[in-house]
Amino acid sequence: MNIYNKVDKLQESLRRIHRNGKKIAFVPTMGALHQGHLSLIRHAREISDFVICSIFVNPTQFNNNEDLKKYPRTLEEDKKMLLSAHCDLLFVPEISDIYPDGTSLKPELQLNGVDLVMEGKFRPGHFAGMLQVVKRLLDIVQPDFLIMGQKDFQQYSLVAMMIKQLNLPCNLVVSLTVREEDGLAMSSRNRRLDPDFRKKSAIIYKALQFAHQNINKLGIEELCSTCSKMIDEEGLRTEYFEIVDSESLQPIKYIAESEKIAACVACWAGDVRLIDNLILKE
Ligand code: AMP
Repeated sequence: MNIYNKVDKLQESLRRIHRNGKKIAFVPTMGALHQGHLSLIRHAREISDFVICSIFVNPTQFNNNEDLKKYPRTLEEDKKMLLSAHCDLLFVPEISDIYPDGTSLKPELQLNGVDLVMEGKFRPGHFAGMLQVVKRLLDIVQPDFLIMGQKDFQQYSLVAMMIKQLNLPCNLVVSLTVREEDGLAMSSRNRRLDPDFRKKSAIIYKALQFAHQNINKLGIEELCSTCSKMIDEEGLRTEYFEIVDSESLQPIKYIAESEKIAACVACWAGDVRLIDNLILKE
């Protein structure tokens, strides 16, 4: 596996790959890799000839400086995991490589409020920073496929909007959420959970499953408040539990209102913020 830090060296190498007519799949990450990330790499392998992973903890998508400081960084471990998953190339840029002209320029997009609900409401500026770095990485790597996880439901919805609006020449491929045995969605942040909160965090997926099982039995409002309560009673603190239209991401009032529905949740397990989602109707 080749490892590059600099954009020009990376692009020199990519020109050869493109010249040979190979299809490139790209998996952007912030490192502290786990099996969820590796399943994206494997998915990338299946649909392309050459797999690139990036590790970059993007400062512009953190609305909380403490969260940025505490974000786990495990580069040496990450490299070993990527090797074992047969990743072809790893790109590990510095902030100055990604933002040589500073961080103020952000893509101008019509996001129809999709950036303002749920994560957008609780993490102001997060999505502007996320779209900024994804656009910059896509400009640099120019992949045929961009692979992202369903785990970050609102994130990939916004990236899909950006690709469409800017006519970016790449296909977004969404990969299923990988979970621990007790259902907790794998996340780099899980390693910050103490054993007690780690155990309790299994309630998040249980609440999502409860929503799935009871979507036709309870009203939406009651369902959301019951699921929030389940999570809170376990000692976590729900920030939001919402049932939304999977395209507009706006909360729905009645199940018949929408063809495609997802339940999305964010909560705190101590000082660790976790998110998850489940498609209820597709
Ligand atoms: P991150 O490093 O958290 O920015 O995540 C990088 C990519 O991995 C994103 O596209 C995430 O949606 C995806 N991802 C994170 N956790 C999981 C998981 N448990 N299963 C599948 N994909 C995931």
